[in-house]
Amino acid sequence: MPCLLLKNGLVIDPASGLEAVRDLLVKDGRISRLAAHISAPQGCEVFDAAGLWVFPGFVDMHVHAREPGAEKSETLASAARAAAAGGVTSLLLMPNTNPPMATTAALKKYRARAMGLPVNFFFSAAVTACRAGKKLTDLAGLKKAGALAFTDDGSCVEDGELLRRAVKIAARLGVPLLDHPELARFSGAGVLNRRVPGCALPAIGDEAETFAVLRDIMASGSGPVHLQHLSLKASVGLLRAAKAAGLPVTGETCPHYFTLSDRDADPRDANFKMKPPLRSPGDRAAVLAALADGTIDAIATDHAPHEHCLKEKGFLSAPFGVIGLETLAPLCVTELVLKNLVSKLSLAALLSANPARLLGLRRKGALSPGLDADITILDPRAAQRVPEHFFSLSSNSPFKGRRLKGWPAAVISSGRFVFKAGRLFC
Ligand SMILES: [Zn+2]
Repeated sequence: MPCLLLKNGLVIDPASGLEAVRDLLVKDGRISRLAAHISAPQGCEVFDAAGLWVFPGFVDMHVHAREPGAEKSETLASAARAAAAGGVTSLLLMPNTNPPMATTAALKKYRARAMGLPVNFFFSAAVTACRAGKKLTDLAGLKKAGALAFTDDGSCVEDGELLRRAVKIAARLGVPLLDHPELARFSGAGVLNRRVPGCALPAIGDEAETFAVLRDIMASGSGPVHLQHLSLKASVGLLRAAKAAGLPVTGETCPHYFTLSDRDADPRDANFKMKPPLRSPGDRAAVLAALADGTIDAIATDHAPHEHCLKEKGFLSAPFGVIGLETLAPLCVTELVLKNLVSKLSLAALLSANPARLLGLRRKGALSPGLDADITILDPRAAQRVPEHFFSLSSNSPFKGRRLKGWPAAVISSGRFVFKAGRLFC
């Protein structure tokens, strides 16, 4: 295993509260030492990190890789490349593949395919058989087969009683239960947040999310519940109140909900179509406030690749979802840190420490000696436009052409560079 010395980077470690210029030594795939000055051991590669920000590798707890079933949109290998380029060294895959990850056999096969990829893949499994919302899967068996979380993401577990039973079992198994809070009976065929004058596209009302969030919070009486991709002022308000009441509820949001609003959504461009939809400027401000005050625990991408021909079908017919792995870091740096809304240490908690803790990844999410050497190094100075094409097989991003700062300069996974100066090493 190579030895690697990062010199003079601004090391940001939420576990110890450290934010200071340090040298960081990596040996045998682990963080070995942090100090004001470390001399390079013989044969050790030295990387000059002066002026750069050194974060624990990002842990993205919400990624769709499309394999098996839609490999033209993304594969495990292409998702790994997009993650490496985006500074995401660990990711949790959602189970809405085809077939879905709802059986131990499917999950074992899927895990085997991800072996040897350059970033760390973790797996969630479906809560209900075929993600159909009727009957629980073999949750204990799925845990044994390697599921790190349970979710029907893509759909909500609509049946409240079934959800409560799942929450109880998940709590007993010590596996996080994640819910996609959207009651389909309220969202119906909606595609946008509100009706746009002169445009016939149907809207998704707020109640689809808020009623689901309220119901999930009530289910947390039976065990921990994590709320996925929160987008509304009312949702984050409910989460804040639930936490104040001591309920075991946590939540995530995605970069598009704190950088865009429904005013930005172009009804002629399906790259602005996602679920939940882009919300009002007031909702966006509330999500930002909930990130700033710690109500929201994690930022996840909900990376949802769709090949070009699918998004070309127009706003009504195109599938929901946008890619996010490769724009995660610069959106967070530009919109949160450089605007002084979230500190660098809080950002490290949102992107690394908190998701690692929620998923029980004890060796990830921090830069303490002995932990896995997963490290994301960002450049806060150089501005660059979001490109038209990505390492992902898909390019359905609403951010193309946007000028951002905070792009990854180098990314280290298990002690090895997987990305450096715009080039992948995987
Ligand atoms: Zn979802």
